Amino acid sequence: MSDFVKLKDCVVTNKNVLLRVDVNVPMKDGKVEDDTRIRAVMPTIQYLVDNKAKVIIVSHFGRPKGVVNKEMSLKPLVPAIEDKLATDSKVLFAEDCVGNDVAQKIADMNYGQVILLENLRFHKEEADNDEGFARKLASYANLYVNDAFSCSHRAHASIVGVANKLKSCAGLLLESELENLAIHIESAQKPMMAIIGGAKVSSKYSLINNLIGKADSVAIGGGMANSFLYALGHNIGQSLCEKDLKGDILKIIAKAKSNNCEIILPTDVVVTKKFENNAKAQIVKVSQVADDDIIGDLGKESLKNLGSAVKNHKTIVWNGPLGAFETKPFDNSTFGLARAIGYLTKNGKMVSIAGGGDVVSAINSVQVASEFTYLSTAGGAFLEWLEGKDLPGVAAIKK
Ligand code: ADP
Ligand code: MG
Repeated sequence: MSDFVKLKDCVVTNKNVLLRVDVNVPMKDGKVEDDTRIRAVMPTIQYLVDNKAKVIIVSHFGRPKGVVNKEMSLKPLVPAIEDKLATDSKVLFAEDCVGNDVAQKIADMNYGQVILLENLRFHKEEADNDEGFARKLASYANLYVNDAFSCSHRAHASIVGVANKLKSCAGLLLESELENLAIHIESAQKPMMAIIGGAKVSSKYSLINNLIGKADSVAIGGGMANSFLYALGHNIGQSLCEKDLKGDILKIIAKAKSNNCEIILPTDVVVTKKFENNAKAQIVKVSQVADDDIIGDLGKESLKNLGSAVKNHKTIVWNGPLGAFETKPFDNSTFGLARAIGYLTKNGKMVSIAGGGDVVSAINSVQVASEFTYLSTAGGAFLEWLEGKDLPGVAAIKK
């Protein structure tokens, strides 16, 4: 897996380094609200500063769709980055990411200084992976460093185009993400269990399909468990369900059987007649769901079974919540499983990896994030990696 070029194998001293990060952080009233993503890339920035490179940082922010939108400016991030530098150097800012002004500002910089360029997505050419735009970005630098794993599934100019024009490598964050995934999943301690929840089978079909070939068991939860139950002939009432996927789901089940992979489905569920916060709900067996029931979560027995199954595995990979956890009382199984896996991991019983925006936010909200072996915040990129796809941004920095 370590077949990509690493930052520490590259000469950076007295070089201009174009560093692609993902500092697409939550902001409120023009201030950074959660600086997790900034803290994550600081080791790379600090390394480049300490080794006297001109550090040219580029990132996107939000979805301005190719037009300048001051609300999506990266300027408010300048103090947030500056505060975190060990040395008390200033972080410069360029009002655009291409153009003569940028070139001049960079020419005037000293080695060891940092400049942040304005939002890449103010230019439509970024998402189009435009050749000319990539050439302009590349013209400022001698070395390209990708430290944005969460963007590496997109063939954008700052991810792929630039990497094809300059000597390129992985930043420290990208390196750690790729190595963690390789160690814990590609060379996973067996038996391995995958837990897949979330809303829809359609968005995770190839994920489930790939995991069936790798994991010893696959537990299905969330809205997609409804689709599995429906495909197997159960009544799922008014629940979220993709009925048209019945054939595909039966194929998955058959493939699992021939691969000796156990598929774990709920045996009981939490149902309500009206889906709302603090809804009136009850637990019923999956065979007893009424026509006007809406399934919001796994039941107690299902959670208990899942807990026992988890204990029989050495590696757990989890994506997608088990229920509609944002709405009470449908948060029980997601939070319960997060606590259980956190506890077992902390006590050295297993390796646990979780990824996906919603499941990571659920794990955070019960404060067990630090107990998991590894949480990937990369969302779509993590999922595509798990699906077995070659990420274009990672392919572009291969040796
Ligand atoms: P992740 O971001 O972890 O990959 P997804 O985006 O696939 O997860 O799915 C998360 C969503 O699935 C949540 O908004 C959650 O409310 C929803 N969900 C889970 N179970 C159900 C259910 N039984 N009915 C409706 N929605 C559900
Ligand atoms: Mg999600």
